[in-house]
Amino acid sequence: MTQSSRMPALFVGHGNPMNALARNQYTDGWRQLGRSLPKPSAILCISAHWYVPSLAVTAMQQPRTIHDFGGFPHELYAVAYPAPGSPELAQRVARMLAPLSVALDYSWGLDHGTWSVLTHVYPDAEIPVIQLSIDETREAAVHYQIASRLAPLRDDGVLILGSGNMVHNLHAYAWGDHSAAAYDWALRFEGEARQLLAHGDFAPLVDYESLGPDALLSAPTPDHYLPLLYVIAQRQQHEPVSFPVAGFDGGSISMLSVRIG
Ligand code: ZN
Repeated sequence: MTQSSRMPALFVGHGNPMNALARNQYTDGWRQLGRSLPKPSAILCISAHWYVPSLAVTAMQQPRTIHDFGGFPHELYAVAYPAPGSPELAQRVARMLAPLSVALDYSWGLDHGTWSVLTHVYPDAEIPVIQLSIDETREAAVHYQIASRLAPLRDDGVLILGSGNMVHNLHAYAWGDHSAAAYDWALRFEGEARQLLAHGDFAPLVDYESLGPDALLSAPTPDHYLPLLYVIAQRQQHEPVSFPVAGFDGGSISMLSVRIG
């Protein structure tokens, strides 16, 4: 299969769940991505919000829309993203990752890391979507290895989508002030990550905890950072790396998106 027919892989900084209902620079960028990407046969999403002590893949025919947050306006709880699932793709993912044990899951669904973005990228919700959990018991390098084994899916038109935030510090977040200036440490870490990504130098990003205090403040917990590793692990030799959406929300959340291919 030629490089041009290989589906790009995409990391999206999802930020505030209210982006699902908003029209702003980020959601406009996500909509533009949906128009510019080849139409996927299916979407495999790795969301920061399915961070659990096991490896599982959603395998139901019709995943529910999960409103996995508290304290937001009722309109957000009314959002549904009725994309079908794909039990076949779920079983294929489980086979690809063997001998790792991957549970076929029938109770999760699509969490807001997935639907707050996809409702803009693919508003028609007609493309099948499955989620792969992030197993919180494994270290970053193992996540990168797991992810790299999924690369053949791209040749069959599957969009591998990571949804998190490269910089995500809610303790420092300026709630209600989306335009707050980004913290110096946040800008430095995102800048360093961009440089490493642009040069295809991924080893330091996998070993991000050794990148110093800026990294520790930017990714104080692994959940929103690890989806990035699932996407960059897809890169084949000479594939371009680009940043189709950028910006900071509330000073401490990077909205940077990363496209591979
Ligand atoms: Zn989130």
